Amino acid sequence: MINESASLHMAVSKKVVVSFIFPLLFLVYTCCVFASDRRLNTLEEQLSGLQSSDVSRLPLLIELAEQYLYQDPAQAEQYALQALPLISEGQDESTRARVLRLLGMASIYLGKNSPALSYLTQAIAAARITKDVHLLSVCYRSAGVYYELLADYDNAVKFYIEAIKYGRLSDNITDLAMVYNNLGNVLNSQGDYVEAADYFEQAANIHKSTQNHEMAMNASVGLATSYLKQQRYDKALQLFKSILADENSIYDFTYSEASVNLAHVYQALEMNDKAIAMYTHVIEDPRAGSYPQALAAAYLGLAKLYATLGQFDSALSLYKRGIVKVKNKTSVESEIELYENLALLELKLGFYEDAANTQAEYIARRNAIQPVTQAGMIKELEDQLKSERELTSLQEALLKREREAKHSSLFLLTSVVISLFCLVLFLALRLRHQKMLRLEQANASLLIASETDPLTRIGNRRFLDRKLSRMRVNASQIAFLLLDVDHFKELNDTYGHAMGDDVLVLLADKLNRLCRKDDAIARIGGEEFVILLSVVDQEEALLFAERVREYVASNVAEAGARITVSIGVAEGDTDKASYDELYKQADMALYRAKTAGRNCVRVYA
Ligand code: GH3
Ligand code: MG
Ligand code: MG
Repeated sequence: MINESASLHMAVSKKVVVSFIFPLLFLVYTCCVFASDRRLNTLEEQLSGLQSSDVSRLPLLIELAEQYLYQDPAQAEQYALQALPLISEGQDESTRARVLRLLGMASIYLGKNSPALSYLTQAIAAARITKDVHLLSVCYRSAGVYYELLADYDNAVKFYIEAIKYGRLSDNITDLAMVYNNLGNVLNSQGDYVEAADYFEQAANIHKSTQNHEMAMNASVGLATSYLKQQRYDKALQLFKSILADENSIYDFTYSEASVNLAHVYQALEMNDKAIAMYTHVIEDPRAGSYPQALAAAYLGLAKLYATLGQFDSALSLYKRGIVKVKNKTSVESEIELYENLALLELKLGFYEDAANTQAEYIARRNAIQPVTQAGMIKELEDQLKSERELTSLQEALLKREREAKHSSLFLLTSVVISLFCLVLFLALRLRHQKMLRLEQANASLLIASETDPLTRIGNRRFLDRKLSRMRVNASQIAFLLLDVDHFKELNDTYGHAMGDDVLVLLADKLNRLCRKDDAIARIGGEEFVILLSVVDQEEALLFAERVREYVASNVAEAGARITVSIGVAEGDTDKASYDELYKQADMALYRAKTAGRNCVRVYA
């Protein structure tokens, strides 16, 4: 009876939700859009009542520029340009910084790179005079965005770190969380996925604490992307699905980013049908494709997938459509990747002329959008200019000979063949060079993988060997800590092997955080871990071991089960001590710790 009335009650409340709450939400949303449009209209009306040199126009112009920045950057630029001359020289540097930053951001979105850089530099200079930490942080972040979009990640990181430095001094934690999010994205692009995940988690936590659900979900997309790049596909899949399940209360760009990345996950898991469906959704659905970067990634992903499936016509046409769709709307790197892959495929299919054209277009585009921002880029451009110059002089020489032998059609034909041959040779050499670079990168990631424990993502025994030989050079005394989880078998038996695995991952993460930069930590099998420390004396090693033990005992728990570790410590001179010797001694000390009742530290005497 009670059950029946409860389920009736639930059915009624579901109906209430469907028939009242959703329309109400829709109404609130429409009101917000309407209110923001009305705000723009009122501002514009107020503005039109004032003389163009009237200083009271200034706040109106700034607000208008801010309101228009994302929806119509050209309009925002217009208002900011009108505002700039109204600020009296040397008086209101904080307003100047704000306006210059707006101009910088609008220029970025309009693809005007060199004015953007100049505005942002001036904005930072003005903000420095004001000593307003929040303003400084925001200006530095904008400069970071500029470099990020140009794929100059080293500089982007530099500016984001500055933004964080000042952001932490200000009370605006929302803006600080935005920088964490940006930095996470750059670190993902640079391959520092674990660190990136850390920043995304911090951003999500801040947004959750300020109840900014949409931005919290956006940070979660970053986190899930880090999982994807770390090849933790199950976690990534779960998180992306939960984000998309919330589809109605996330921003369009979050929806867009999550959709394309979910397609990447499907592809990595070789669920090709699902991957194709998801990529197609991003390409065809306006909301799923609303974020240009995601749209570019969808074209690239789907075309690559078709190419691997042997459907070359579809792949070619997708690359071409992708280039048209994303031109000037996204970061340099995405655009260039489309060109590169198209040229590669054309070359592979024997369309040499098309490949040459694509390559030429790609070089022209890159020169147009990528200004010289760092030494590496300058060198690359110089190399490119040199090879282009060589090609031109070769062509000139051929032309001269062609003129000399004007009447010999055979000679003419030979010249054409030679110049074509040179062009193809040039392209082939360039491609070979790119392939070598990719191979080098693949080698580097293999090296990392061979030194990483697949479960906990910290180092393994091989990693320790390398660290030990490095410590030999830098330190004289070394401490060897052997940690073993207490009663782990019992934990496995009670809660299951999967939970045992979770504990190992959690523990590895906590231990990793306790270690300093020069220490080395690794999982050497089962539930045993080793930490190598460069130390001055035995007391220091003992203190550290005791701190680790105490930290684990009071901070590591899973499903209510308290985790403790026993630790055996051994020490030696770095030039004499061998790994095997230290291990044996630490193991004896560990045995003593176990027999003394566990959750304690013993030193080999
Ligand atoms: P104590 O060390 O306190 O003497 O007791 P213990 O129960 O931890 O004993 P022992 O070190 O001999 O047990 C190790 C157990 O760890 C045995 C095995 O079932 C478990 N184990 C080993 N590798 C893994 C792993 O990768 N995942 C999980 N979940 N368990 C593992
Ligand atoms: Mg053991
Ligand atoms: Mg154990």
